[in-house]
Order: sequence, then structure tokens, then C-alpha cells
Amino acid sequence: MKYISTRGQAPELSFEEAMLTGLARDGGLYVPSEWPQMSKAEIAALAGLPYEDAAFRIMRPFVGETFTDTEFREIITRAYAGFGHAARCPLVQLEPGHFLLELFHGPTLAFKDVAMQLIGQMFEVSLKRQNRRVTIVGATSGDTGSAAIEAFRGLDAVDVFIMYPDGRVSDVQRRQMTTPSEANVHALAVAGDFDDCQALLKDMFNDFTFRDEVGLAGVNSINWARVLAQVVYFFTSAVALGCPHRPVSFTVPTGNFGDIFAGHVAKRMGLPIDRLVIATNQNDILHRTLQSGAHAKQGVTPSISPSMDIQVSSNFERLIFDLYDREGAAVAQLMDSLKAEGSFTLSQGALSRLTDEFDSGRASEDETSRTISDAHKAYAEVLCPHTAVGVKVAREQTGTSPMITLATAHPAKFPAAVKAATGLHPDLPPRMGDLFERPERITHVANDLGAIETIIRKARA
Ligand SMILES: *Cc1c(COP(=O)(O)O)cnc(C)c1O
Repeated sequence: MKYISTRGQAPELSFEEAMLTGLARDGGLYVPSEWPQMSKAEIAALAGLPYEDAAFRIMRPFVGETFTDTEFREIITRAYAGFGHAARCPLVQLEPGHFLLELFHGPTLAFKDVAMQLIGQMFEVSLKRQNRRVTIVGATSGDTGSAAIEAFRGLDAVDVFIMYPDGRVSDVQRRQMTTPSEANVHALAVAGDFDDCQALLKDMFNDFTFRDEVGLAGVNSINWARVLAQVVYFFTSAVALGCPHRPVSFTVPTGNFGDIFAGHVAKRMGLPIDRLVIATNQNDILHRTLQSGAHAKQGVTPSISPSMDIQVSSNFERLIFDLYDREGAAVAQLMDSLKAEGSFTLSQGALSRLTDEFDSGRASEDETSRTISDAHKAYAEVLCPHTAVGVKVAREQTGTSPMITLATAHPAKFPAAVKAATGLHPDLPPRMGDLFERPERITHVANDLGAIETIIRKARA
């Protein structure tokens, strides 16, 4: 299996190289050169398998020679051992014909753990074999950073530094980053906002001397290995509801388009998915794109579902590549226009392919809050605000297939929004009930590239 860039100008890579590289050198994103197929019989045979066994069968063709079968099985086993539910990603029924896929049983209570835990174990095996050590630096508004720290804590081949905006993440998010005691993890509280953190990260990757000196690597949401890990639960949940003998639909609370793109991959591999529904909050660039074909940036408005407050939906580029028959030059042109003018318009053909496969909807702040409150009153189900955006949009769909809405975070991760809607403070699961007693370890840093690079150089030495 080879990996090619969505812009057609970067060298083809193996799975291992694509995973360790992240962004392609032509500015594009890596995708497999073809979609491996699963037959009806192979899909049916996933029924009843432990999550790990299904994950092995679904992901194996993408990994190629990078890992042996035994190595890959062990990687998957280690990745999900720390999940707080034996089914890893269980499906629960919300109401007739509507199910929630709970993706928040990992160590940081958000779906990003499903991919990040796997990527941590894959990095470790791959780097140790190559006798290499890397420094992972990330910028976070909360969820990605805590998931990365949990995934890499205590591993030998990696140092991890996460920059977060000082005073602007929730207490739970901060403590998840600052309480792990392993020497290879570092939470950097930056005197600035999230945009400052992202700008620092970009500048760091462009400082080639520093980049080579510390072996800088990234694990942000454009990393192909993260998308791959998310393909698995589309299969396992669909099969639990009777796929491949009847089709199902999915509604996905969407920000960077990584999670829902994994649904597109599952469909391309042969899973009979009826509709894929994009659910956005008030930052609704993707919903507007489906309605008009115009993909136009507006400013980000902060919401109670902060992990979806995004206007540059990076992984959308991977879908555009497929919508344009994998023509790298066409993708490059659209992306240049997005950079220069803040927008692009899809061709008629591309737009009709998009709407053949996807639907979309949005939830305002009020609608999100009301959905949390309704679900609590009607079903005693406590939803996180991101999941509530999905539930609201899913309920507007008119199709007849069973609907699965992805529940992307545990309500206790966003207690303020949940309390405002229900009057109840959502408790952390017992296994992390002592989060507020554990000692914190924080390095406060100025919003200054040189100062932060010095800290990283020293801390990893
Ligand atoms: C990251 C995140 C999302 C958005 O997922 P994308 O892959 O960026 O579309 C939704 N909900 C939660 C809780 C998240 O952390």
C-alpha cells in the first residue's frame, strides 16, 4: 500500500513514512493510493468479534509492510487496554431508530483517544526499530493535547510538549495535561490565546535548524494514521445494527472533518452506509458548502462545543481529492484560492457528488443547550455539547435507515454547559475521580518562539 499526496506533487510514501511525516511537502495530505475492499462476507464476519480483532482485520491492508501481523496485533491490544469499557466503543439506543456510538471511554474522555492511543503505540514500535527518537510538539485548545499526552506518556522514543493557552482551557482539560508525572511529557502554558499557540507551532516547523536538531514530529488531525483508527468504529457499530444486510446512516459532530472522513473511507471500502450527515455548530462553513457549493471562511465564534470551533476544516481536502477524481492539480488550485481569497467554489459535478453521499445540518447555541436538556428530561441521558449538536441534526433527517450519532465526548469534560442545560453537575467516571487531587506540573512560557525552543532543548536533554 502506497500513500499519495492530495496535491499530486510530493513523493509516494509507505504507511510508516506517511505516519511519521504528517503533512506532505507539497502542502497536501497523504491518502492511500487505492481503497482496499471488504466483501459482504468479510463484513458479516466482523459480527461479535472483540473490538481489537475487528480493528486488526479492517486496518491490516492499510499498514502494509510497516508492522508484522504479530506486532500489529500487540499494538492494537496495548492501545485499547486502558479504555474504561470492555466493548471499547459501545453502541447504546437513544430512541427508536436512533443510536449513540459512545467514543469517550478512553483515558481523556473524548473520541480523540481512539486514534491517539493507537498512534502512540505505532510511533513507539516504529521509532525503536529505527533507533530514532522524536520530539512531538502540539498546540491545543484542550482535547487534542490531553489525548496526545496520555498516548505518549512514559514511552521511550518520544518527548512530548503541548502548548495550550494559559487560563483558556477547562479545569478538567488542564489537569489532564498537567497531572501525568512521567518525565517525557511537558505541558507548556503559553501567555496567549490558541491562535498564538498554533502560530508558534507553525514557526517551529519552519525553523529547520531546530526542527532537525530535536527531530520535530507532529500528530495533529491531518495525520493519516489518526483517520485510519477512526474507520474501525464505523464498521463495528454498523455491523452491530445488521450491516451488511441492511444499510445504516451516521451523523457526525464535525470540526476538522477527520472523524466523518473516516466514515467516507468505510463506505469506499464497501460498508453499506446510506447517508453521512455532517453536524456543525454555529461555525457552519461545511453546512454552507453543502447548500451552495461555496466554501467560504468567516470568523470563528466561540461556542459551548469548542472542539468544533473551526473555520479551516483541514481533512475536507481529502474528500475534495475524491470528488475531483483524484486530480491533484485541481485540489491544489482550490486550496490556493482558499489561502489567497478565503474561499473556493466547487464545480457542479463535485457538488453533486458531495450531496449524493452527505447531508448536513447546524445547531445554534440555544438548540444545542435545549437538546441536552430534552435528552436529560426524556431519557435521563446526559449528552456533551458536541454530541448534542449531532443529536439535534440527526433528528431532522428523514431517511428510513437506523441512525447512529457519534457521541464524541463524555459530559463531565464540559461541565459548565451541561450544568447550564440540566441543572446537574456531571461527575467524572470513578477511575479518574481523583483528578482534582493529583499534583500539577506546569511550565509557564512567554509567547516567544526563541524562549520556547530553549525550554524544549533543555527539557529533552
Ligand atoms: C475534535 C472533536 C470533534 C470534531 O472532530 P473532527 O474530526 O475535527 O471533525 C468533535 N467533538 C469533540 C468532543 C472533539 O474533541
